[in-house]
Amino acid sequence: MADIVAPAYRTIPIIPALKPGAMEGKGPFVANEKINEAIGFPGQLVEDWHDKAIAKMGELLSKYRSLKVFMDACVHCGACSDKCHYFIGTQDPKNMPVARQDLMRSVYRRYFTLPGKLFPKLVGARDLTREVLDEWYNYFNQCSECRRCSVFCPYGIDTAEVTMAAREILDSVGYGQKYSNEIIGKVHKIGNNLGLPGPALIDTLEGLEEDVKDATGIDVKFPIDVKGAEVLLITPSADFFAEPHIDSLIGYAKVFHATGTSWTLSSMSSEAGNFGMFIGNYDQLRAIAMRIRQAALELGVKRIVVGECGHAWRVAYSFWNTLTGVGDGADTNDRFAQMLQKQLDHRYKQPAHICEFTWDMIQDERLTFDKSKNDKHIITFHDSCNVARGSRMGDLPGGQFEIPRNIIKAVANNFVEMAPNTTREQTFCCGGGGGLLTDDLIDLRVKGALPRMEVLQQAVDEHGVNFMATICAICKAQFTKVMPIYGFDRKMVGGVHQLVSNAIQLGPK
Ligand code: SF4
Ligand code: SF4
Repeated sequence: MADIVAPAYRTIPIIPALKPGAMEGKGPFVANEKINEAIGFPGQLVEDWHDKAIAKMGELLSKYRSLKVFMDACVHCGACSDKCHYFIGTQDPKNMPVARQDLMRSVYRRYFTLPGKLFPKLVGARDLTREVLDEWYNYFNQCSECRRCSVFCPYGIDTAEVTMAAREILDSVGYGQKYSNEIIGKVHKIGNNLGLPGPALIDTLEGLEEDVKDATGIDVKFPIDVKGAEVLLITPSADFFAEPHIDSLIGYAKVFHATGTSWTLSSMSSEAGNFGMFIGNYDQLRAIAMRIRQAALELGVKRIVVGECGHAWRVAYSFWNTLTGVGDGADTNDRFAQMLQKQLDHRYKQPAHICEFTWDMIQDERLTFDKSKNDKHIITFHDSCNVARGSRMGDLPGGQFEIPRNIIKAVANNFVEMAPNTTREQTFCCGGGGGLLTDDLIDLRVKGALPRMEVLQQAVDEHGVNFMATICAICKAQFTKVMPIYGFDRKMVGGVHQLVSNAIQLGPK
């Protein structure tokens, strides 16, 4: 960490000067045999990796029509090239979204198009050599799958999907990434990304009950494995112990307490995060999501609410229905999905985001706040990529932008926006999403945070902002790590429900 320095802010935020090769060989640690085999992937690069990788690519191209369209549709207009935070921060031209896609597109052309088979050089087609495979590993693990580039592409080409496909191919030949694969193994074995066993979780929750009682004099409960509770809360495991995440968990508990909602956590399914999406692997994505269904069925809950986690909400909102039967579109041939459909209370959104839950309660006047408790903060809001560009909230378009802001305005007096071309659907990634929140990528993470840090600095200079709220565990973890390198206090970042927790009025009205 000592030698990691923040890049200088740009005076005019335009396409930066190119530094070819700047991030070559700077990808994350490769997963070892034990990690890969624990989740069913080949332990190390298989001997016939070339043929297997091409076969896997063919399989994905026939399975995901979008991937084929993305391979064919790009006209190299360049509209996406300066939209990636990793390109802006590293200046490596291969971190331009179009160049990242071309790493795969060149191989696609060689093996799956006639001109590429006949005249490879004329159409920019390349053989899949070991050098190319290494290049894939390096640069497809420098994309946080944030989808910002796709917002600017006239054809809607989604580099995140190309990245997911590349990682899926790499895993299939035993060339996976350590951080994501290790975490997936922990979820299968223990139930959460952190490997926090049930007894430790129970201890932590008991400690929290005592802390909240000391601070407020009120018995706010943090229930776990309670059969027959109305709500099952699925939240990122960072909420159980890390700062500032835990302050949001306290906020959720206070909201449930104040509204008289019976709720529970699950020790078996104590993780909202789903790194199966990051590695583009459907089987992993489903297996992780199934733990949630199992917990919901065993506990007999009526509602499933998801805590502050960006990619978890994307998985829950966009994929849980067909993966597990939570939400509309459950597989009619899946007996357990149908059981869950019958069990859940469909007067409510299934699943619901904790912000939707809290905002509904605010609108129903079931919560009261003392906004002055947040007066020490001048607050801004960082939209998290997967919430902004991969999901929705509420009943209106843009609900995922408005609802968290509405909550902040309901619990605090001082709220300002950051520059409009860096918020809502145009938000910049924190720099640590998509399975890149690992210390072996700290250089990339610091550089990737540059665009958000520049705009935050502007908000600090113009409005005196001293608190940036967000609803993503990865954003919180990434910002607390990189913000001090940019000269900010790490305590400047926190959750929306941390602000709710500060202002909520508990006890008799
Ligand atoms: S990190 Fe985001 S902006 Fe950059 S290439 Fe990947 S999806 Fe596009
Ligand atoms: S904006 Fe779309 S079409 Fe243009 S270069 Fe980027 S991916 Fe290709």
